[in-house]
Amino acid sequence: MKNKIMRSWSRKKFDAYLKNRATEDLEAINAVDDFFLQRRGYVFKQPKAKESVILLFSGGIDSTVAWATLIELYNYKVYPVIIDRGSKRRAKRERAAVKSLEKYFAKKYPDNYVEPFHLTVNTIAKEFSDTINPNFVSDQEILHNFQQNKWLANDDSNVVLVRTRGVSPYLMPFYGVVYSNYLKFVNNIEIKNIFVGANFTDGSEVSSQSFTALRSTLFAICTATADYSWNFSSVFLERETGVLLEKGGTIALGAKLGVPLEKTWSCYGDGIFQCGDRCATCVNRREGFASVGIEDKTIYWSSLKEKILGYIKFHLSKLKFW
Ligand SMILES: [Zn+2]
Repeated sequence: MKNKIMRSWSRKKFDAYLKNRATEDLEAINAVDDFFLQRRGYVFKQPKAKESVILLFSGGIDSTVAWATLIELYNYKVYPVIIDRGSKRRAKRERAAVKSLEKYFAKKYPDNYVEPFHLTVNTIAKEFSDTINPNFVSDQEILHNFQQNKWLANDDSNVVLVRTRGVSPYLMPFYGVVYSNYLKFVNNIEIKNIFVGANFTDGSEVSSQSFTALRSTLFAICTATADYSWNFSSVFLERETGVLLEKGGTIALGAKLGVPLEKTWSCYGDGIFQCGDRCATCVNRREGFASVGIEDKTIYWSSLKEKILGYIKFHLSKLKFW
């Protein structure tokens, strides 16, 4: 590959990773791959430089690094699409993060930049969100659930209150197909390459983001549209090219590409700052930075609070002498 972080693993090593976790099914992957090899002679084809690709974008670390990677390492024209689910809880902060990332990408990559498109879709059954209303569930409870691999609210814009083995996140790439259809219909632009920014770590907890699920998505997109020219994969996880990045690797790659990671928004809280310690995505995010020893410039409420408390305590202790 083109740099040390995006190294290319051998098939044997890649398969060993897959065999080691419960959310993967090597038999299913091989069945799909065999089918595509027979049908079209390839499973996944890396698009050529200057081709156009669609990217499912959320404003979080992974999809932001994916955006930079597709432009900087592959020289693609990237059409980011945001699945806007009208979530009120974090929508404001998230939108502000997306706006500032837009400015960064537009300025840095004027030739390959396309403004992210918002597709308004509600993918969560109302009956479900009514039953488990996030307003009545504490952050700690959600985090605890996430750690126990039960019910969770992983990310309000991507995965609201779903089971880790649920199907909701699985639906997202299909909206990439919807956006492709929209681009064809409205602008007469044809794009058959769809990417997501799932890394290997994501699929350990959330089965719909496993490599097996990614492959079955490719199969489902092609069969559902009776069109076998679709190309679908993750920027960070593809057996054909041997790319396999974990959360830390994704962060390291982003840092190397100069992506302003602190501008991305992962928290599902709605504070001015990301919480840092009360939600699963913040905990994941901090662990990711720590795992590769990269400085996390994000301002978290948890560390800010400590600083403020420390400052107050320091001055109070001084007061005692008066
Ligand atoms: Zn948070």
